Amino acid sequence: MFDRARAVIPGGVSSPVRAFNAVGGTPRFIRSAAGPRLTDVDGNTYVDLVCSWGPMLVGHAHPEVQEAVLAAVARGTSYGAPTEPEVELGEEILARTPVERVRFVSSGTEATMSAIRLARGFTGREVVVKFAGCYHGHVDALLASAGSGLITFAVPGTPGVPVSSTELTLVLPYNDRAAVTAAFAEHGDRIACVITEAAPGNMGVVPPEPGFNQFLSETCTRHGALFVSDEVMTGFRASRRGQWGLDGAVEGWAPDLMTFGKVMGGGFPAAAFGGRADVMSMLAPEGPVYQAGTLSGNPVATTAGLATLRLATDEVYARLTAAGDTIKAATAEALSAAGVAHTIQSVGTMFSVFLCEGPVRDFTEASRTDVAAYAALFHAMLDAGVYLPPSAYEAWFLSSAHDDAAVQTILDALPGAARAAART
Ligand code: PMP
Repeated sequence: MFDRARAVIPGGVSSPVRAFNAVGGTPRFIRSAAGPRLTDVDGNTYVDLVCSWGPMLVGHAHPEVQEAVLAAVARGTSYGAPTEPEVELGEEILARTPVERVRFVSSGTEATMSAIRLARGFTGREVVVKFAGCYHGHVDALLASAGSGLITFAVPGTPGVPVSSTELTLVLPYNDRAAVTAAFAEHGDRIACVITEAAPGNMGVVPPEPGFNQFLSETCTRHGALFVSDEVMTGFRASRRGQWGLDGAVEGWAPDLMTFGKVMGGGFPAAAFGGRADVMSMLAPEGPVYQAGTLSGNPVATTAGLATLRLATDEVYARLTAAGDTIKAATAEALSAAGVAHTIQSVGTMFSVFLCEGPVRDFTEASRTDVAAYAALFHAMLDAGVYLPPSAYEAWFLSSAHDDAAVQTILDALPGAARAAART
């Protein structure tokens, strides 16, 4: 299958992290999935700790999501006209988050790209601040790595992105208030927005230090910039109300704009951005900032997202917490017994395992994780029937379908995998 795939698709995959480049070996081709398990084209079954990189909060092929989707398909799959499911999904998002209006798109990349355009259109400014190690999709201006020294404008992180796309992007170290203060002191009147992962999950899970998001929100407000909180990964996953439910809702502040994806699409290509009504009304057709999409708010995708969010009750998050606590404790125990340095970090129900001493507070510290040891851990887990993310810098995603039997498969696999990691 991999040979056939490579003959038609670069690297044999439709998105790079699906390839096993970071861990070695051949990616598994998945034929079907149900509950907490994947089955590959050779008939092997794995307990899934990727969950489509986050979306499958209630497990694969959940009967109620499936029923809603099949009924929606029977009514036709796209009309290019407004529908009831997108309004209902929008109402659900408004009920769980501080956003006052929401616009649907088809991927997290589109959501962050559109949010930045809107922030620039609203403020009339051009500079965007982001943090090293935060991923916001493959938006040109956000595929930037820090240039030499702090508070310098960024260089493109990939060939194909023109310097002109990143020279308006400032990349700062995460969790570093002094760097943010200095950036605003130097460029404050040019900064349209600060965009951050609400809690980074794309360099492994790196919790914001207490009050960091509030500090970003207040700093932006003071300087007339917008605070854009990217909850594509954390939204409806870290908690019922995402990362904002863990900090902003408690501390009493709200981002100006937010982006969502993954869970809110229920396994379909649906994402969204939303925020303050006065900012969102700058969007076409109410306002002058153009943004559009043929399949945006697709009725099948929004039906799947709505069915998923309706299932995502407090009980679901309690189950994710309980299963996560069991897996984290067993992982720490196995790695300790094998003598492998490790740090496990969490935000709400999300967690990841760094193979280095902690704490990990930013991208520089995340980069210390032992990727060779992780590759050994990954392959030993795979051989024992557990599908971990094929990269050392990713969160391990659970679903509420991960029952005792699925968790037991993981617990049984861990000691041997930890010993394999120790041998590298
Ligand atoms: N923002 C964050 C925080 C993400 O984790 C991702 C995807 N991993 C994106 C944006 C981009 O989303 P998509 O892959 O749907 O374009």
